[in-house]
Amino acid sequence: MADMHEVPAAVREALAALVEPRPMRRGSLSERYMKCNKPGCPCAERPQARHGPYFSLTRSVEGSTRSRLLSSAQAPRARAQVEAGQQFRKHVEAYWGVCERWADAQLDAPQAAAETEAAKKGGSKKPSTRKSPRRSKRS
Ligand SMILES: [Zn+2]
Repeated sequence: MADMHEVPAAVREALAALVEPRPMRRGSLSERYMKCNKPGCPCAERPQARHGPYFSLTRSVEGSTRSRLLSSAQAPRARAQVEAGQQFRKHVEAYWGVCERWADAQLDAPQAAAETEAAKKGGSKKPSTRKSPRRSKRS
């Protein structure tokens, strides 16, 4: 059986994916086409004639939506940052997953299970107050 204190390979791998530093963000990038309301502008009639695209980053912070307008030139980079953020979220979930499996393995290990049984049977047994040998400063 594997040593319970050794970090499982899956946990190491999930952690390595997590710590790669990247510019990233939460929220989403939206792309809108607008009507201008100027008399005679075809945008009023035809959706294809609407103005844009107008890009903005939106993110919900404590219940309110925050947004930031972007230029068309900024949009591709912002999209990549949002995608990196979504990837990070997946990596976080994956990391939780492997760590919880590891935690389950720790609980289910024969030794831990035996301790749990002992604790149930033992009831109000006092915890052992074994003294650790003190190291003297003489040596
Ligand atoms: Zn218009």
